Amino acid sequence: MSEVLDRAERFLREEVAPFAVEIDRDEAALGQALAGLGREGLLALKRPWEFGGPALPEIEFRHFQVAVARTSGALGFLQTQHQSAASLIAKGSNEGLQSSLLPLMADGSRLVGVGFSQLRRSGPPLVVAEEVQGGYRLTGRVPWVTGHGFFQEFLAAGELPDGRAVLGLVPLEDSEGVTVGPRMRLSAFEVANTVAVDLDSRFVPDAGVAGVQPRGWVQENDMLNVVLQGYFALGCALAASDLVLKSAERKSSKRLHAAHGQLVALADSLRAEMDEVAASKVGPPVKLKARARAISLAAKAAHVAIAAGGGGSVALDAPEGRVYREAMVYTVSAQTPDILAATLDELLGPG
Ligand SMILES: Cc1cc2nc3c(=O)[nH]c(=O)nc-3n(C[C@H](O)[C@H](O)[C@H](O)COP(=O)(O)OP(=O)(O)OC[C@H]3O[C@@H](n4cnc5c(N)ncnc54)[C@H](O)[C@@H]3O)c2cc1C
Repeated sequence: MSEVLDRAERFLREEVAPFAVEIDRDEAALGQALAGLGREGLLALKRPWEFGGPALPEIEFRHFQVAVARTSGALGFLQTQHQSAASLIAKGSNEGLQSSLLPLMADGSRLVGVGFSQLRRSGPPLVVAEEVQGGYRLTGRVPWVTGHGFFQEFLAAGELPDGRAVLGLVPLEDSEGVTVGPRMRLSAFEVANTVAVDLDSRFVPDAGVAGVQPRGWVQENDMLNVVLQGYFALGCALAASDLVLKSAERKSSKRLHAAHGQLVALADSLRAEMDEVAASKVGPPVKLKARARAISLAAKAAHVAIAAGGGGSVALDAPEGRVYREAMVYTVSAQTPDILAATLDELLGPG
């Protein structure tokens, strides 16, 4: 294991796991856990060396995501938005933005969210971009932005008339041309403060534009990430298997110990499959199958945890119920029609 993953595992074990229940409920506790990741320099793990590193290889980065999602789903969900903003800036074309922002992103001095899922929607663009003197103006509704109150700004995507997408930095607070909607009432990760943001001719200067992506960028990006996004579901499956172990110990149940062993074996073999698929040049069907398997295992493991926990699993604050609800989010995060179809095939067989 790399030094970075070692450091992350220790931090998660010692400073996050004991507070996982509070972190899921309380914004201040989630904020402290996020700040802790920053203190450990773990908030921009794929940042290139020229901006401070640690340029974690993709698979190691995904194993980090598994470890966070396993320890605290809410922290995993919140921090990944910022990591994704850091990667988009690093891969973008704005060298000025890279050198001013990236050095501040690993320790959390600057925290940035993302709002580009609207590019996945079919039909007229939800957010349009207009090229103007010195920058762009963005208008429309960004339907999902996680991290209000945690992140100072977010990368908002707007579509140009020719289908290219502008990714521009916008404050994540009410300001000129920016209206932040109410915190969404959600059955999972509510503490991470997801909001919709309305943009009304919001000016983004060229200096704040991370890049202008070609038409079809999000579809290509989704396909590149199809397996990689599945590692959160794997983390969720492992969180559920940890809960099954706790129930097994509490009930001194041989069958539950065996169930825990079965889940760990399924998660291990899924991880090996995902690592192999992620590292190879296989076609979309194989990648989609791996993603769908991860979604299915998260839901299955969470269901086993519910059964193992008994009636107590249904209590509002029960970790079993929380992990079950988290599996729901990983089922739909960054969903595309192909991922939906693969999920149904995996759960029901071909239709
Ligand atoms: C709690 C939560 C927090 C989130 N936070 C963020 C965030 O911070 N930043 C961010 O960018 N995103 C965020 N998302 C968005 C997330 O990735 C979306 O769940 C995902 O993009 C799919 O949901 P949707 O509502 O965008 O699309 P949906 O409308 O549910 O559609 C899903 C897919 O099906 C396709 N589709 C739908 N209807 C049709 C149709 N009639 N014909 C053809 N295709 C169709 C869409 O194009 C899309 O690809 C968040 C989501 C959740 C649940």
